[in-house]
Amino acid sequence: MTSQIKYLLTEADIPKFWYNIVADLPTPPPPVLHPGTGQPIGPEDLAPLFPMAIIQQEVSIEREIEIPGPVRDVLKQWRPSPLYRARRLEQSLDTPARIYYKYEGISPAGSHKPNTAVAQAFYNSEAGVRCITTETGAGQWGSALALAGSLFGLDIEVFMVKVSYEQKPYRRAFMETFGATCIASPSNTTEAGRTILEENPDSTGSLGIAISEAVESAAQREDTKYALGSVLNHVLLHQTIIGQEALKQFELADDYPDIVIGCTGGGSNFAGIAFPFLGRRLRGEQDVQIVAVEPANCPTLTKGRYAYDFGDTAKLTPLVKMHTLGSGFVPPGFHAGGLRYHGMAPLVSQLAESGAINPRSYSQAECFEAGVRFAKAEGIIPAPEANHAVKAAIDEAIACQRDGVAKAILFNLCGHGHFDMQAYTDYFAGQLHDETYDESEVAMALAGLPSV
Ligand SMILES: *Cc1c(COP(=O)(O)O)cnc(C)c1O
Repeated sequence: MTSQIKYLLTEADIPKFWYNIVADLPTPPPPVLHPGTGQPIGPEDLAPLFPMAIIQQEVSIEREIEIPGPVRDVLKQWRPSPLYRARRLEQSLDTPARIYYKYEGISPAGSHKPNTAVAQAFYNSEAGVRCITTETGAGQWGSALALAGSLFGLDIEVFMVKVSYEQKPYRRAFMETFGATCIASPSNTTEAGRTILEENPDSTGSLGIAISEAVESAAQREDTKYALGSVLNHVLLHQTIIGQEALKQFELADDYPDIVIGCTGGGSNFAGIAFPFLGRRLRGEQDVQIVAVEPANCPTLTKGRYAYDFGDTAKLTPLVKMHTLGSGFVPPGFHAGGLRYHGMAPLVSQLAESGAINPRSYSQAECFEAGVRFAKAEGIIPAPEANHAVKAAIDEAIACQRDGVAKAILFNLCGHGHFDMQAYTDYFAGQLHDETYDESEVAMALAGLPSV
């Protein structure tokens, strides 16, 4: 049997700066607009929700932003994360391709999410904030922020999408272990939640609804701010340590990827692995192909419209230009809960619109098939979200075999699936029906886009 190869770095190799791709974009990002006036907003408009240090990162055009010492101190518990060469998977596929994956499941919360949760908790505690509200889909973001909040002495209040709250009781227990409060969304604790429940008492919830509840809850209290685990520029920024470490690990491997792949829910783990490589391409240093993979049931990049939209269902957030299925769209309840968001990170959307990255979508059954194949070869059970990236990497490797070319393929294994075993149980029982999303619902949600 061939063996895996593991490329390890030392603590000193943890990046000292985050990489801001805005500095290398050919055109500046479209402005964020005020939901009432339709005019560009300024930093002070965001001050009720975020500490100023984070707002400055959100609008920064600097290429490198220093990572504070206390943040690096926490990250070094599990960073640098390993890069593996998937030799056993290559062998099982009989492919000439070289497959590499960066494994973010080694963090205490089991995904890439703590990379930004730790930074966000740090800046909030520095600003004297006592409590942070947030939303969570599958529970990974809530888990990450609960962990980070306990390290920096913050109360964390998590609105968890109801379908996940019911499917994943262990995620709730995880958050509660760190002292966080977890509320099923839609809830009757907010105006936004009550409105949804009046219209549809059986609502299974969505990220858009949970964001409305968390934003409303934060806006009501002086000592409370809000945190988002994906989509926004500063979140993507914090994740770029993934790709920066991978660049160093490829030096150790004396190789360079031809293709970099990430799954996209709101776009943060994808940006984390891809942006440092894409930046090198944008600066004319080295070519690479970038692939973003999304679920066929929530096809934001491949089927959504590039337009100004709200980030939430109750239309409380500022307007951002992004690929969207409409903020009123509630995707069907499939298992990759972390990928059930109606929009996409504005930076990822802009890059897709300009053709700089290649989006594609897969249905969930084929992703689980790929995930099981990967697990058997590599010994790690991927999160259902990560299975989308695994599927694309396997497809690319099979294409290499067919075409007789030996490409280097890198993908981000953004989390493990230990809290998602019910999804695997359903897959093995043949019960993963690929319920397709309702196109008329998307048409309705898109017809309701704000006119700016
Ligand atoms: C949250 C999450 C995602 C989706 O969020 P992105 O911002 O698109 O990365 C994907 N995979 C895992 C394991 C997650 O926890």
